[in-house]
Amino acid sequence: MKNIVIFGAPGSGKGTQSALLVEKYGFKHISTGDVLRNEIAGGSELGKTARTYIDDGKLIPDELMIEILASVYDGLGQTEGVIFDGFPRTIPQAEALKEMLAKRGGQVDAMLELDVPEAMLVERLVERGKTSGRADDNEATIRKRLDVYTRQTAPLIDWYEHEGKRHAVKGYGSLEEINAALCAVIDAL
Ligand code: AMP
Repeated sequence: MKNIVIFGAPGSGKGTQSALLVEKYGFKHISTGDVLRNEIAGGSELGKTARTYIDDGKLIPDELMIEILASVYDGLGQTEGVIFDGFPRTIPQAEALKEMLAKRGGQVDAMLELDVPEAMLVERLVERGKTSGRADDNEATIRKRLDVYTRQTAPLIDWYEHEGKRHAVKGYGSLEEINAALCAVIDAL
């Protein structure tokens, strides 16, 4: 059973590439952004809390996010592997994930980093905003999210490098090319 973190800035293609990996390997996919958006759509208390952060381009507090992640993970059942998409986003979340998996006899097997230049990220997200219906896919919130990524999430690159888990791939070009680069890493695990 493999635990794989797919990592990158907003708009780097984590969701798109996760879907391709799920199809190829039969892994399960945890997108914390999707989990939160489902809570919002369902009108739960958690959704109401999450919305105030998401619409403002900010991160949900670590403690709450870690609790949500553990509960989703434990609800997955038997699987060949799990892809974590959008989690961890801070060093405390990465530490909590490591601890959570260790308690269950596992570990993060790889962190797959999608590298995309910032100008391309903005362009992709603005384009996505035309059809995604996501309140946070507007240019002002996109800039905030990229700033949050740089300050709070990008430090995880060094963190996972230090753990010996980081594998960076070029996150632009054709979907097939990017997918092939990710599969090469997974096949070598
Ligand atoms: P995403 O769909 O991954 O781009 O996530 C959309 C929004 O959900 C983010 O901008 C955050 O507000 C929130 N979110 C998703 N995952 C996390 C996380 N691991 N920690 C904190 N906030 C998160």
